[in-house]
Amino acid sequence: MLCYNRASPRSIFITWLAILNRLYTTDRMQNWGLNCSDDCVLCSGGKESVEHLFFACSFSATIWQAVLKKLGIHRRSAGLAYELGEAAKASKKTGCIAKLYVMCFTETIYSIWLMRNSVVFRNHVKSSEYLVKEILFRVACRSSDELRSRLLQD
Ligand SMILES: [Zn+2]
Repeated sequence: MLCYNRASPRSIFITWLAILNRLYTTDRMQNWGLNCSDDCVLCSGGKESVEHLFFACSFSATIWQAVLKKLGIHRRSAGLAYELGEAAKASKKTGCIAKLYVMCFTETIYSIWLMRNSVVFRNHVKSSEYLVKEILFRVACRSSDELRSRLLQD
């Protein structure tokens, strides 16, 4: 899924770290003995972990739902294990939606991580609508003409 992914190398790297649970989320920092709040900065409604930050968080869930809807997939995100499984299956397929799904999976995780860091380090919040547009723009920029036209269909 990561090797045959046309998403940006940075997003693939961050996704790889997320899958391995190697990102500096506050649950991990607390395990190292650092005294920091582990409240999610995106929703303030949960403890920050990979599973919460990227999937269970209400802010992230809104983004996933909008991105999946753009691909014609009408459901909410179902968590890391499920979405990773779907992305792995999609990476073995050749259809437009499968290729776009793999790229969107990676770019969405990357964008949520950038958003989290923007809030933590700069106290700068973007709307979920803006973030969805940014994700789709990143995917479109790295797509073939065929994929781009499929992505831009309504
Ligand atoms: Zn949250």
